[in-house]
Amino acid sequence: MENIIEQIFDAGIVGAGGAGFPTHVKLSGEIKTLIINNAECEPLLQVDKNLAKIYADQLMKTLHRLMEELSIEKTVIGIKNKYMDVIEHIEAYAKKYPKIEVYPLPNVYPIGDEVVLIEEVTGIVVKKGELPIQYHVMVLNTETLLNIYNKLFEEKNVTHTYVTVIGEVDAPGTYYVPIGTSVGYMVDTLGKRNNANHKIIIGGPMTGSLTTIRDVVRKNTKALIVLEENHSLIRQMEDVNINHLTRIMASCSQCRACTDMCPRHLLGHNVEPHKLMNAMANGVLDHSSVLETALGCVDCGVCELYACHHELSPRKMMVMVKKEFAKNGVRPSAEDCTDIHSDRDYRRVPSGRLVMRLGLKKYDVAVPFYTEPMPVSYVKIPLQQHIGQAAKALVTVGQEVQENMCIAEAIEGGLSAHIHASIGGRVSEVSDEYICIERL
Ligand code: SF4
Ligand code: SF4
Repeated sequence: MENIIEQIFDAGIVGAGGAGFPTHVKLSGEIKTLIINNAECEPLLQVDKNLAKIYADQLMKTLHRLMEELSIEKTVIGIKNKYMDVIEHIEAYAKKYPKIEVYPLPNVYPIGDEVVLIEEVTGIVVKKGELPIQYHVMVLNTETLLNIYNKLFEEKNVTHTYVTVIGEVDAPGTYYVPIGTSVGYMVDTLGKRNNANHKIIIGGPMTGSLTTIRDVVRKNTKALIVLEENHSLIRQMEDVNINHLTRIMASCSQCRACTDMCPRHLLGHNVEPHKLMNAMANGVLDHSSVLETALGCVDCGVCELYACHHELSPRKMMVMVKKEFAKNGVRPSAEDCTDIHSDRDYRRVPSGRLVMRLGLKKYDVAVPFYTEPMPVSYVKIPLQQHIGQAAKALVTVGQEVQENMCIAEAIEGGLSAHIHASIGGRVSEVSDEYICIERL
């Protein structure tokens, strides 16, 4: 019998939100406190709170098993305090398990950011350049936990994911979608509202990105947001080139709002976007301490989409500089933080106000949640759906595959994850990047 970590590896489980870090690696350290992230802090997303209600029993069983097998001392499930119905529901199931607690989270953004969440629940500040496991703390999101349940109790690998489709669509909802389903197929099937030109955001409105109908659903896809192309959020997300950025940075008033509201800065991390804006606008690029401030940025979008009233893009600059550092192999080094800012409570971003600021109020409504898989006859499954190395194809063109079968294996010894067929059918194409399957 395989141990629990091997089973999680076999199922190809990666973080079902965020960057898709392989879960078997996350759970391999010495964990004393496990936090289940049910914050779902980005506006409009409606996956985890529904899963917590529908699958409460399954989630508790899985937690109990993980705690037993990995000697985890305590689990805390973080749920926003505005979802009292979900909190009460989960608490009723958690009663049987004395080491599982429910923690009501404030309704602020980004309370689901791993470091912000850990501080909220445990009081521990994971410093810039450190990892939660150094404090024996680990965070998993709710859908990832459900994927572990599926493997341990149902022998089911990761083949589908829950995606909230919202905005200018006729049938908004949260759908259970085979991985590799095309974004265009989903949007067409659910019907675009009115005849205006649309753009699609994949992921949440704060950390997602613009995509096209040719893109596909991956293991960590949480949402598709369809908006008219002239929506202010779309305009802010459009790519801008470096010359344009430098020009608009010249209009930066150095008001500091981007820094003062940055969630990592408020925790005492050295992250100061206003300094980077100033340095870049003035061509002062030899000041390494200013550039290194970008290494602590987690791309949450607060500075760009909420704090700055000049519609400037400090986040884009931070991310651009961070990518340059990454290309050169520079990672954030562990460094001391200052204390948590004393006025942090007043500077946090209330989720309701964020929705208004993003111009998304009219879409911020509960949508139906479907647990039956969306019927799909063709999938194009990427081999890179996780942090680390792409999986290696195990199938060839013309081969028949069944749903749930492993079609690409993780690279041995590397950070990688297996990939499984999300529908049964015949393999129609294989490349270094993806495997296509057509239903027979
Ligand atoms: S909030 Fe905008 S204007 Fe103010 S310092 Fe930051 S980038 Fe400049
Ligand atoms: S995106 Fe902006 S607010 Fe968010 S962590 Fe980066 S610098 Fe801070």
